Amino acid sequence: MQQVLNLMNGVLIPAGCGETIDNISPATGQKIATIPRSNDSDVAVAVKVAKIAQPAWATLSIDERAEWLDKIADALESKIDEIAAAESEDTGKPISLARDVDAARSVSNFRFFANLLREKPKEIYEMKDATNIVVDKPIGIVGLITPWNLPLYLLSWKIAPAIAMGNCVIAKPSELTPMTAFLLSQILLEVGLPVGVVNILHGFGPEVGQAILEHPEIGAISFTGGTATGRHVAATSAPMFKKLSLEMGGKNSTIILADADVEKAVAGSVRAAFLNQGQVCLCGSRILIADEIYDEFANKFVAKVESFKIGDPMDEDTSFGSLISNAHRQKVEAYIDLAIKEGGTILTGGTRPNLQPPFDQGAFLGPTVISDLSPHSRCSTEEIFGPVVVLHRFTSEEEAIAIANNTEYGLAGSVWTEDIDNGIKVAEAIDSGMIWINTWLHRDLRVPFGGVKNSGVGREGGYRSFSFYSEAMNINYPK
Ligand code: NAD
Repeated sequence: MQQVLNLMNGVLIPAGCGETIDNISPATGQKIATIPRSNDSDVAVAVKVAKIAQPAWATLSIDERAEWLDKIADALESKIDEIAAAESEDTGKPISLARDVDAARSVSNFRFFANLLREKPKEIYEMKDATNIVVDKPIGIVGLITPWNLPLYLLSWKIAPAIAMGNCVIAKPSELTPMTAFLLSQILLEVGLPVGVVNILHGFGPEVGQAILEHPEIGAISFTGGTATGRHVAATSAPMFKKLSLEMGGKNSTIILADADVEKAVAGSVRAAFLNQGQVCLCGSRILIADEIYDEFANKFVAKVESFKIGDPMDEDTSFGSLISNAHRQKVEAYIDLAIKEGGTILTGGTRPNLQPPFDQGAFLGPTVISDLSPHSRCSTEEIFGPVVVLHRFTSEEEAIAIANNTEYGLAGSVWTEDIDNGIKVAEAIDSGMIWINTWLHRDLRVPFGGVKNSGVGREGGYRSFSFYSEAMNINYPK
């Protein structure tokens, strides 16, 4: 049984109160670790430590800080299999996904921001009679709060740019998925990152997370998680004028236009719907299909969904793992029951698979495809965040755009067509932060990432992350 510890002041320690929380493997229901149940006292100590560390960290040169990021990337890379195994056990996701997406991205996040820091251009504006120099000063101490679906992927996406800009961080990973944050803590000690630059505190959101939101000396909060929690984060932090980045929920449309290449669209939309068991904020969980090709698409889509191999996440052949917890599975199942009550037809899935022990105790649920629901129904407009997609027909592109915009969310989506110019036109008409055409989740780390409406406030990615984790100051002097 592993004992996860907080990283604070350059040491690994339990919560000050000594209390712990059980960490359960969702694929087996077995307890795999205990984690510290940190609270406001731990946050107070971490802030003191970070305050001491921050001035020296901020005065390092850009090259020195970039080198630290590269060292962390190298150390993560040397443990990629260990990270993947921990992520798979902790989340229930297939090991291949944990390795190729989660673990690989944690390395590239540190490496990418190291290089971007080195390349960051100086901002100087000449006037006829004066010069302006823009200086990006660190905020000081920033709070980073992350969810369970892509644990180290999202934590490293925040830590790397935050420390690159000269801040010290207090990070709180999801209480459901602490394992890779603990591995990162060990790696930061191994590489010898200066004490207090990164502090990682584990525990419940309303306890340690809330204390991070409330602490007056934490100047910015970068939050990724559900919209309801994000609303609470904003309500708590905004009156203190903390800088806020909110990356929240989504209900993303995959739009299959009449001229789409059906084979490619089926392959792409199945991946978009069910990657990580549908537990990615960007997942395309409502599929809007042109009437002319609806039947062909729906038949091929269901056949492909039925080819997933469900089971032991650590098996290299598994393509579909468990959901994050039994409680989350029950929430997803409640939506399936609701869909049936609302007149939906279950084309495939909707039930728990029969698996051998110990996986019969896991939070598995078959990939589920539902048709015949109204695009205004709750299953079509609310975020389910699980392996459930709804199919809808449309007869004109205007109708498809109207359906796509008919949710409170505006995070992402994809359009499938052989006419790229028209695809761009349709994409631009959707109220969303990101749209892919004929692909999905193809990420360039330089581009803006984030959502509109109830999906987000602000953008992360590339220089936008650097802007968020710094305060721009202008200095003007006469010639
Ligand atoms: P969640 O909102 O329940 O939790 C997110 C984090 O917030 C966790 O660390 C949690 O402990 C913490 N938290 C909870 N209450 C808090 C409080 N009072 N104060 C401070 N922190 C608190 O979300 P989740 O269930 O972990 O993740 C799933 C959600 O995340 C989905 O809605 C998904 O769409 C969203 N998500 C969004 C993105 C994006 O980039 N937009 C990426 C991944 C996940």
